[in-house]
Amino acid sequence: MYRLQDRFTRTSRIGRGKIPRGIRQEVFLRDNNTCQFCGRGFPEELLTVDHLIPIALGGLDEITNYATACRHCNEKKAATPLKDFAASLNIRIEALPVHGDPIIDNQDLPIQIRLIRKRIFDKQRKGELRATGKSAQKRTEKEYRRALWESEVGNQLSNELPSLPGHARAIVPEARTVSASEVDQLFLIELTKSANTRSLIGSVLTKDRDLWTSIERIRSESKDDALKKRIDQALIRFAKEVRRRNLSYPTNAPSPQVGSGSQVTTNV
Ligand SMILES: [Zn+2]
Repeated sequence: MYRLQDRFTRTSRIGRGKIPRGIRQEVFLRDNNTCQFCGRGFPEELLTVDHLIPIALGGLDEITNYATACRHCNEKKAATPLKDFAASLNIRIEALPVHGDPIIDNQDLPIQIRLIRKRIFDKQRKGELRATGKSAQKRTEKEYRRALWESEVGNQLSNELPSLPGHARAIVPEARTVSASEVDQLFLIELTKSANTRSLIGSVLTKDRDLWTSIERIRSESKDDALKKRIDQALIRFAKEVRRRNLSYPTNAPSPQVGSGSQVTTNV
């Protein structure tokens, strides 16, 4: 399963690697064992995983760039740009699915946000936005934020949280879908304020894991002192925010500890 954390921690893979069996099966399953080009169903052994944006043209070797194709279509497509191949078959790029993106796949997010994200992939597949090479993912995130701020959802977020930096604000809708409570959400927002904790956010922004257990584990097990310090700083800001809003501090949340160089004491 492709997790939210991958959105922040993955490095673009360039060049052809071996696609793990589990991922191949996941792609076939999601595409219902149907070739996305000719629309015909096949038994698994006759199916291949196609790179929509061909590797030879700089496309990434990752799940959002995969689609199920029969051998015939895959061979015919080879390194033809997706746009041209789709046109030759009368297929609309928009009709091709995007699999494995943590925003598009998150059914708890407002549909407008998921569509914003889908449109970015469509643009990339049409060749209107670069989706190749090392900085491809960064470009996707940047384009996503830009499109988000131009949308109604983004406008609402700006009005609601005007003091939050843009990159932190962009995480809010996702944080809302994975937080068990309003209080948990507040903490995630504090955590996002440190740009360097983005990969950390990814690892705690996971629905099937308890937020505070994850945080406690990172604080006790991580060898990264700077990271622990940032978590403590987020906890301090969080404690303040909880007080300001007259909420009660969660019983299972760690209290901020006196870290190296910090002079903070708490009376939680
Ligand atoms: Zn086919």
